[in-house]
Amino acid sequence: MSVRFGPAGTPNSFAEMGYKKTVEIPDYLTRFELTAFEYQCGHGLRVNENTARTLGERCREAGIALSLHSPYYISLSSVEAEKRENSIGYLVESARIASWLGADRIVVHSGSCGKLSREQALHYALDTLKRAQAALDDQGYSKIHLCPETMGKINQLGDLDEVLALCELEERFLPCVDFGHLYARSLGAIQIREDYEKILDEIANRLGSERAKSFHAHFSRIEFTEKGGEKCHLVFSDSRYGPEFEPLIDLLTERGLEPRIICESAGTQAEDAAQMQAYYSQRA
Ligand SMILES: [Zn+2]
Repeated sequence: MSVRFGPAGTPNSFAEMGYKKTVEIPDYLTRFELTAFEYQCGHGLRVNENTARTLGERCREAGIALSLHSPYYISLSSVEAEKRENSIGYLVESARIASWLGADRIVVHSGSCGKLSREQALHYALDTLKRAQAALDDQGYSKIHLCPETMGKINQLGDLDEVLALCELEERFLPCVDFGHLYARSLGAIQIREDYEKILDEIANRLGSERAKSFHAHFSRIEFTEKGGEKCHLVFSDSRYGPEFEPLIDLLTERGLEPRIICESAGTQAEDAAQMQAYYSQRA
């Protein structure tokens, strides 16, 4: 095992290089020597079963691990009971698609706070996730890991502490640590090695060494505003904002940690993931 890198969704160069079909993604990723892919269902769950199964098969042949990003309209912490209930349904539907793909991880946004206090929002999210896991177990999807994500906007539920609290609920949950989001919501407070050390230590302290080793991660540079946090995702070549990946990868290598790192750069996800992969290969 080693750290896996890959893109979130289909980067711009996929079409530019002449690829057309979703099932060609593994060929494309292999050219970048990438071994992970996050299938995007952010905007909906309309997926063709045959395409998903074929993509999954080809990824397995190419040694690419798949995860699935669940819809953005899921709201684990909504004040409306009906929205929370529907969110459980969307997660079950996501798990069905994940099972076609052979994806073992489903990333889910932790939620919003709206007019709720953070404590109340967390309380709702914990309850919804607990029931979502029960529904997944019920439907035979018990091997899939739900991954609550750290969020980039300050008013969203999902700082590191809250995501770890969600993961403490159930041993199968893995944190999706989005380093760009943590950087944005802290107004740029991830700069040096020690900043990453604190995050990795916190995961290990709260969730134990196994999950600290195999967690899920997102990485991109993110522009932020003082007031709200996350503004937009950037590309690696645009260095106005961080965070920088090198200190993180140095630490992963030294500590023998093997997260799956999905790059969410705006359009150059594969190229930027390949940059991280190349740096990691030199160090490992
Ligand atoms: Zn996300």
